Amino acid sequence: MTCGKNRTDPIEADPAAIADALGTWYAANARALPWRADPTPYRVLLSELMLQQTRVETVLPYFARFVRRWPTLADLAAADEVEVLEEWAGLGYYSRARNLHRCARAAARGLPPTAAELALLPGIGPYTAGAIASIAFGEAAALVDGNVERLLSRLDGRDLDPRSKEGKRALWARAGELQRSRGALRPGDLNQALMEMGATVCVPRKPRCHTCPLAGPCAARASGTPERWPTPTRKAPVAAIRGAAGVFETAAGRLLGRRVAGGLLGGLWEPIRVEIGELTEPGPALVAGFAALGLTVRLGTRRPDVVHVFTHRRLTCAVFEVAQLVGEPVPAPPYEEVAFRGDLRGLSTLARKILEA
Ligand code: SF4
Repeated sequence: MTCGKNRTDPIEADPAAIADALGTWYAANARALPWRADPTPYRVLLSELMLQQTRVETVLPYFARFVRRWPTLADLAAADEVEVLEEWAGLGYYSRARNLHRCARAAARGLPPTAAELALLPGIGPYTAGAIASIAFGEAAALVDGNVERLLSRLDGRDLDPRSKEGKRALWARAGELQRSRGALRPGDLNQALMEMGATVCVPRKPRCHTCPLAGPCAARASGTPERWPTPTRKAPVAAIRGAAGVFETAAGRLLGRRVAGGLLGGLWEPIRVEIGELTEPGPALVAGFAALGLTVRLGTRRPDVVHVFTHRRLTCAVFEVAQLVGEPVPAPPYEEVAFRGDLRGLSTLARKILEA
């Protein structure tokens, strides 16, 4: 194998030898995880959606709660979306919970066995389809996630943005080639070996090349600067936004909040909150926000600002205690009271930060 600095040319490392090394390594090093012990299609679906952009340690208690509360896909399909969102609260990226529930309803009698059919279900992209098809059904379906992107980019020393059309095509082709060359190794084990190696050995910073079974043919290791790959993706700029939130606690220790109607946090509870302009004073804007909802309030102590990063937005939110409320809140939407003492289910991470402030 060559390891020139601008390689986009065809692969030279032997795919059968790579698949073999991956299989041997995985057999000895795979972490014992609950979805691996019993990889039913439902459990694989649940774990894959939860693991997107989320660490394994964070997912473990959520996974356990979900399978305890809804042991089958049909059980989940029968649940209300609000219940699912409440159980998901704190895991972030709530569109995943909504997609999970939509998918369960669309396939309550059972997930189809091929990646092509799975990809037709709501919320299932090519990666998740490949994971379920290969791990739960044994189909020789390829997959590429962030860990596989990094591993294969380094292995082949490819100077292509892995998120570009060309880069994606090359990586999926490479993953497919490994699947076709895997010999007796199970399709799901090959895919999990790729992901596991990316997650635990070929990590973003300081890859552990000295323990890596692919060190021999790896172009990035041979270059001496493995961290140079994958080629960085140009990220969309993160917009700075501002807001103000008011926490009104009733005598019974309950919070006056509202259920968010749509968008990223749709379906979850949060304290009354307004978005404000760059130069707007947060206090008067919040009072005006309450007034627009039919309530007259006087603000109390200002708490430390809360910073929360959404996918492409960074919110700095001023937090106020609402010391006095004139009039009674309307009992119907948009107002509802939500208990938050001792029961944080159904609150977004942002709402929790506001309450902690
Ligand atoms: S040798 Fe290093 S850079 Fe190459 S795949 Fe292994 S861990 Fe990654």
